[in-house]
Amino acid sequence: MNWISNYVRPRINSLFSRREVPENLWSKCPECGTMLFHRELSENLNVCTSCDHHMALKPRDRFKALFDGGVFSEIEVSAPIADPLGFRDQKKYPDRLKAAQKATGEKEAMLVAEGEMGRTPIVAAAQDFSFMGGSMGMFVGNAIIAAAQRAVKKKRPLILFSAAGGARMQEGILALMQMPRTTVAVEMLKEAGLPYIVVLTHPTTGGVTASYAMLGDIQIAEPNALICFAGPRVIQQTIGEKLPEGFQRAEYLLDHGMLDRVTHRKALRDELISITRMLLRDSAPIKGDLPAPDAQEAAGSPQAGDGDAKAGEEAATAKGKKPAGGKR
Ligand SMILES: [Zn+2]
Repeated sequence: MNWISNYVRPRINSLFSRREVPENLWSKCPECGTMLFHRELSENLNVCTSCDHHMALKPRDRFKALFDGGVFSEIEVSAPIADPLGFRDQKKYPDRLKAAQKATGEKEAMLVAEGEMGRTPIVAAAQDFSFMGGSMGMFVGNAIIAAAQRAVKKKRPLILFSAAGGARMQEGILALMQMPRTTVAVEMLKEAGLPYIVVLTHPTTGGVTASYAMLGDIQIAEPNALICFAGPRVIQQTIGEKLPEGFQRAEYLLDHGMLDRVTHRKALRDELISITRMLLRDSAPIKGDLPAPDAQEAAGSPQAGDGDAKAGEEAATAKGKKPAGGKR
């Protein structure tokens, strides 16, 4: 009727509604219930700042934290046949896939990339639990083969982050066939004498645990990650006995010799750098920046502090000898 209520008021309203605070600014820790500020949580690599609970970390975020300067390039994975069984439960399999792609912004449940980690070139693959439970189907098989082939071609170590509910039931036996396929891919790395390191994240279960996730030269797990073939509930029902505390969790498996390390996510990168360099027989990693040349000179001079005096003198004489040797 009048232009103020029909035109001006909606305009003003839309201006104010735009300023509304986004709803998902906070998230709740599933372990201790603390409300965590989103930015703080992602800066802490999705580890609860109050109880150290390790929440899921998306492959892309993991790679940003893993590679030097967050720089990596993706490795192309060939697409498998779509919906080979024409599978349908409540939803058609292709519809489920599309929904997962829309929700995660990723093509499939595994991301493969290459780049440098502590100046060591590596290939890395990470499984995405938010994409249909990280389930291992033909794509994941193809991704691991692509990663292994790239690593062999470039003579680089492969680091794999696992997270899966098991094989993708919508692909039936074709999903199960990825167990021997990925085992062969791991064998390729071993034949080429290249390190294969597995980082097991919460949860790694089913056929994934029965194949590539347990074949690493070094097996690392994140704290409290569930790692199993059949889950604790199924086992408890089958054997009819109460299971020990912490059963099938990372620390329990470490105690029973199934793992080499349980490492906090924030210490993981440094540890992976040390381990890959050790396995590649490279020199130890340099932490931080090298001192400026001037500072080195000063440390080597005889005027250095009491304890350092002798070492300083030795360094000075060694330095003096070098050019002389060169002249001869
Ligand atoms: Zn917490």
